[in-house]
Amino acid sequence: MFKRVFKPITQFIDSLMLKDVLTGMGITGRYLFKPKITVLYPEEKTPLSPRFRGLHALRRYPNGEERCIACKLCEAVCPAMAISIESDQRDDGSRRTTRYDIDLTKCIFCGFCEEACPVDAIVETSIFEYIGDKKGDLYFTKEMLLAVGDKYEKEIAANRSADAPYR
Ligand code: SF4
Ligand code: SF4
Repeated sequence: MFKRVFKPITQFIDSLMLKDVLTGMGITGRYLFKPKITVLYPEEKTPLSPRFRGLHALRRYPNGEERCIACKLCEAVCPAMAISIESDQRDDGSRRTTRYDIDLTKCIFCGFCEEACPVDAIVETSIFEYIGDKKGDLYFTKEMLLAVGDKYEKEIAANRSADAPYR
């Protein structure tokens, strides 16, 4: 009862004395001379974990052969049904994909495809600065995914080896 009667009165007095404003300015003043923790992105960047799940890539072996053996485990495990694979047998009897597409507008970057792959073919890189200007730009085909893998293979291999002891 006492509290209910006096609360509006104390709130009114506080507002007259600008208590909230002064409290806010006090916090600002306290942090004014402390080291800054803000990062001036994109000039400055925070470190990324080797497990960061960014743009997908398809990898090759050092001899240039693509790793993917078209087992379709990644397609089966993908909860967003973002991966579409078609495969065929080559003249040498090996099986390879004829189509490997990822619709990144469906992808939820869960990493299941990467975990399911028995040959480390599909991976998620640490690339996160990419955009699509128009419909279809984020639909990545096999050629596009292989191109990402070719370009960033060194970084991908380094990240996987840094993470290997913890897997
Ligand atoms: S990261 Fe997840 S949602 Fe995205 S393609 Fe892989 S399995 Fe599918
Ligand atoms: S990327 Fe890996 S899991 Fe997916 S089809 Fe190829 S080999 Fe199988």
